[in-house]
Amino acid sequence: MEVFETLDKRFASYTIPIVFLEKLHTGLRWAEGPVYFADQRCLLFSDLPNNRILRFDEQTLQVTAFRPDSNFSNGNTRDRQGRLVTCEHRGRRVTRTEYDGTITVLADRYQGKRLNAPNDVVVKSDGAVWFTDPTYGISAAYEGGKAESEIGSCNVYRLDPRDGSLSIVAEDFRRPNGLAFSPDEKLLYIGDSGFWPNPDWPRHIRAFEVLDGKLGKSRVVAEVSPGIPDGFRVDVEGNIWTSAGDGVHCITPEGDLIGKIPVPEKVANVCFGGPARDRLYICGHTSLYAIHVNTRGVQTP
Ligand code: MG
Repeated sequence: MEVFETLDKRFASYTIPIVFLEKLHTGLRWAEGPVYFADQRCLLFSDLPNNRILRFDEQTLQVTAFRPDSNFSNGNTRDRQGRLVTCEHRGRRVTRTEYDGTITVLADRYQGKRLNAPNDVVVKSDGAVWFTDPTYGISAAYEGGKAESEIGSCNVYRLDPRDGSLSIVAEDFRRPNGLAFSPDEKLLYIGDSGFWPNPDWPRHIRAFEVLDGKLGKSRVVAEVSPGIPDGFRVDVEGNIWTSAGDGVHCITPEGDLIGKIPVPEKVANVCFGGPARDRLYICGHTSLYAIHVNTRGVQTP
């Protein structure tokens, strides 16, 4: 298996001839929600069906339990103050972990009804928290807990940083999933992974214009196949590095699939890390991987 699969010569500039796909840890059930802490030289990620957040130490190479009972956490990110923000399937909420370790609930209801099961989250530079709320986490006990949707739809939400109000910013998704801003934050990319569970539904990434506290018009940037666009991150040049069924796909802002990083199992999510933000961490189905690439992730926070 090639380390990089170059489909367009533009991808070659992001590859490094002597790197390889490193397998860092295995024995997971569905790795998801990677988030990098440069100040700790560590990666946190969810092992979703095993109901835990794990911590990979970049210097000792040890994996330890960061949060053994994580309420079936899924997506993670950091806010602009560096605090951990987490989507919980079983808790059906988005939380923030404070500096003293206590957990603050940021959102668990919309207009009095419980959220489905927040999946992935991103924080904009103004502090607003944007997250997706599909039903994967209430479809089976394996992913959190089986329950009926109270809201009855799968929406994308924005939590206002000033007054804590929650608003729907997109409601025309089957299963909204990963999300990431373009480097200038003028676009918000959101994946629709409705293909799981229904092959007639989308498996694409849409780009929305970001307006003041809401979203404008959108276009489909790319279909992701095989597999689905579960989670993705954006590099400093605006390329989207997304999960897929055969590894990681690199898609330009124009929507061209220019290259792949083959991974020997399904991929759920990725994030940039390492001191230079040039190490792409990859949450595979049962294993955590990493590979160095010749670009850098957008700085967050
Ligand atoms: Mg996801």
